[in-house]
Amino acid sequence: MSPKDYIAYFLIVNLILKELGKNKSFSLGLPKSKILDHIALFCYFHGVMAKKQKSITVGFTSLGCPKNVVDSERMLAEIAQAGFLITAEPDNADVVVINTCGFIAPAKAESLEAIRHAVDCKLNGTVKKVIVAGCLSERLREQLFTEVDGINAVVGLGQRDNIARIIKKTLSSAQPTAYLNRRPHTTSDDRTRLLITPSHWAYLRISEGCNHRCSFCTIPAIRGPFRSKPKELVLAEAAELVSAGAVELNIIAQDTTYYGRDLKIKNGLAALVSELEKITDLAWIRLMYLYPAEIDARLIETVAKGEKIVHYLDIPMQHINGKILKAMRRPDTKDRLCRLIENLRSAVSDIVLRTTLIIGFPGETDRQFNELLDFVKWAEFDALGCFKFYPESGTGAADMPDQVPEKIKQQRLEELMLTQQKIAFAKNKNRIGSELTCLVDSVDSEGLAPGRFYGQAPDIDSVCIIKNCSASSGQFINTKVVGTEDYDLLVEQISS
Ligand code: SF4
Repeated sequence: MSPKDYIAYFLIVNLILKELGKNKSFSLGLPKSKILDHIALFCYFHGVMAKKQKSITVGFTSLGCPKNVVDSERMLAEIAQAGFLITAEPDNADVVVINTCGFIAPAKAESLEAIRHAVDCKLNGTVKKVIVAGCLSERLREQLFTEVDGINAVVGLGQRDNIARIIKKTLSSAQPTAYLNRRPHTTSDDRTRLLITPSHWAYLRISEGCNHRCSFCTIPAIRGPFRSKPKELVLAEAAELVSAGAVELNIIAQDTTYYGRDLKIKNGLAALVSELEKITDLAWIRLMYLYPAEIDARLIETVAKGEKIVHYLDIPMQHINGKILKAMRRPDTKDRLCRLIENLRSAVSDIVLRTTLIIGFPGETDRQFNELLDFVKWAEFDALGCFKFYPESGTGAADMPDQVPEKIKQQRLEELMLTQQKIAFAKNKNRIGSELTCLVDSVDSEGLAPGRFYGQAPDIDSVCIIKNCSASSGQFINTKVVGTEDYDLLVEQISS
């Protein structure tokens, strides 16, 4: 961009500012000269970037769980830093990158559908290259090329940080190429991300892989053995996210309770959370994916006494029947799981509990299902996710005898979810009249805002609906619960 172009941009910005000056609502809390500098600089860089990237646009689709979101955010940062233009219209992008999920059949189907759609766009001539990354690439590897004809590159998990280089190579190559390492044995550095989530909350992944061998699960085969991210790296990443505006960090891993074991750190998760609590400007720390058998007294005490750790735990329990748990290769027993719930509730009276269950595991009888149903009624979880069992190739459970017919799985799933719905609705009703601190997630022009109290994890749980909200997204406000709407709470702002 020449100095002449820069001056032209500057003049255009001046005109825009003059117009904006007439609008009373325009205020950034900065002197106008400063705003002018910022916008001019923005235009300058935007102009340079647009020129550099004029011919290369990248459309990005992120599928799957929060762990995959972190990988997507890292790839997006690499792509942007390399000078490509990330477009909101993937159907018309030069290159489409799909970060896939390969965990269970429906996730695989969703990923394959997205890939086929991108390949169709390529055949229609609106897209030039299709690159497939993520868990499905790692799981199916070169087989993906035969699964969907037209893919240009398959990128394994270990090649995540090379995505920009791979895009460049793919653009100049006619040959479909697989970029796959042998199974990764280190953790990745997840700093420098282009957040998909709103800037006021983010995921903080503390480890990679899993050392458990649940008989239904493909994750250890896809993501390798458990590797803790060094504490210094986790803390640096957390500080980076907070300085970029995050007030809530959601701690994720395949099993967060296992943190530090491979590094020979005792009470790794509790110690890590205590360090995270020291970060100024961080308000909420939320623990997700806790393996029930590893939740000990020290961790419960950390949750009870912590100042920033929210009283919310996500503990996937999968089942309650002893025989099924054993066949799942889970170390829990019904007694231990029930005791854990009791201990958590007596130590942390306002604890909000979420769990995940699997319905229709091979051999699950009506009786065993009813036992699970009774457990759900007794435990009264605040939130519950339930999945039908899928026989995934390569897992022990896929070849087990007595597979449950699909129709029965579906009936059981519906019955269980209806039972849980009654529990969740009753719990919501009990909250009417109570006061809650809410984090505002977004606000529309009418002042309607979805927000969350500590018992609602982002993108997975219900929300608080705030009418006439005068705060901005990312702010905490005091509210009163005035009603319910399905799984959501209707709240009124009391003060900011
Ligand atoms: S703990 Fe979770 S990720 Fe690990 S094997 Fe079991 S279900 Fe899979």
